[in-house]
Amino acid sequence: MIELRSDHDIRTWLVERDESRLETLWEAADQVRRAHVGEEVHLRGLIEVSNRCRRACTYCGISVHNKAIERYRMTADEIVDCARRALDLGFGTVVLQGGEDPGLTASMVAGCITRIKQETGLAVTLSLGERTDEELTRWREAGADRYLLRFETSNPAIYARIHPAAPNCPSLDRLALLRRLDRLGYEIGSGVMVGIPGQTWDDLVQDLRTFQSLDLDMIGIGPWLPHPATPLAQDIEAFAGPTEQVFNDRLTTLKMVALARLLVPDANLPATTALATIDKDQGRELGLMSGGNVIMPNLTPPKYRVLYELYPDKACVNETAEECDVCLRGRIARIGRTVGEGPGQSPKQRRTAAMTITDPTRGAA
Ligand code: SAH
Repeated sequence: MIELRSDHDIRTWLVERDESRLETLWEAADQVRRAHVGEEVHLRGLIEVSNRCRRACTYCGISVHNKAIERYRMTADEIVDCARRALDLGFGTVVLQGGEDPGLTASMVAGCITRIKQETGLAVTLSLGERTDEELTRWREAGADRYLLRFETSNPAIYARIHPAAPNCPSLDRLALLRRLDRLGYEIGSGVMVGIPGQTWDDLVQDLRTFQSLDLDMIGIGPWLPHPATPLAQDIEAFAGPTEQVFNDRLTTLKMVALARLLVPDANLPATTALATIDKDQGRELGLMSGGNVIMPNLTPPKYRVLYELYPDKACVNETAEECDVCLRGRIARIGRTVGEGPGQSPKQRRTAAMTITDPTRGAA
């Protein structure tokens, strides 16, 4: 078994290149995954509700930097239709993700959550960026179960460069927001990009430590992928600095997934679309075999899907929801795993829910 006693132990695995030693890492992560979250792969249907965004994140293809892209916002009816599709396809959860779009108002989103809950009973995850306390409270009251907000990197200097304040929109402390979401009773998900210009191996160690300290229910890890319309891709050198640079490749991403599984054994860990994008043949399977237990099939109507361009050449972008579903179920079956039934709560949340019998102040998801 693998010992991860110190930051040095973690760093040693991150820089390891010997394939036979790495086999030990993949096997350990796979064993811990099996013991803590089982063989089931949970499907979360992703609905990319809007590509409008007021933020100036220097990595993201739908930020204000991208002047060329056509902007869209789905209507409430379109969003609820996608959720019905998720139910028909047997998914347990829908994820409403979008840019930080003020047009996704508190009442519009609350209305969608209420309708989805009433009509489908599915678990609802939100991933709508840094929103006000009133909005987050209202959406939780409307029935939202989970919130995804990646902290992107634990290095404050890099974070400031990739997530600068934009006009009329101060940059909020995402770690504080995650703790607040936890207190509001959401299951909380976060994550990072791997291989951001300027990111070092020690930064990745701290990212993993931050996952532990937040005690996350979900952890999304994907490679940073350069989008030509973003400042980060246009001037990598200016962002990179003189230090050692982490790779934004498959191997480093898989090591991060495996180490996250070993350090936060109960978390739900997706095999991300960004990982599938850099290895369209094997990325999903390798993510699932290195500690992953979740996949987020895309349910967004194809006419919008192509416009939700966080990075170029995104996996599954030219498929319908049905094609995506058939393809992903095939991939899961071929590696001997099963598709999960129900909402796929994290084991931590199931324990917390059991505790609410004695502690009514703690919200169950
Ligand atoms: N507006 C929401 C949702 C953002 S998209 C928010 O800010 O939380 C979801 C995730 O996609 C981001 O958190 C980021 O980690 C990832 N992402 C965005 N642009 C990317 C890029 N160019 N390469 C890799 N991942 C990217």
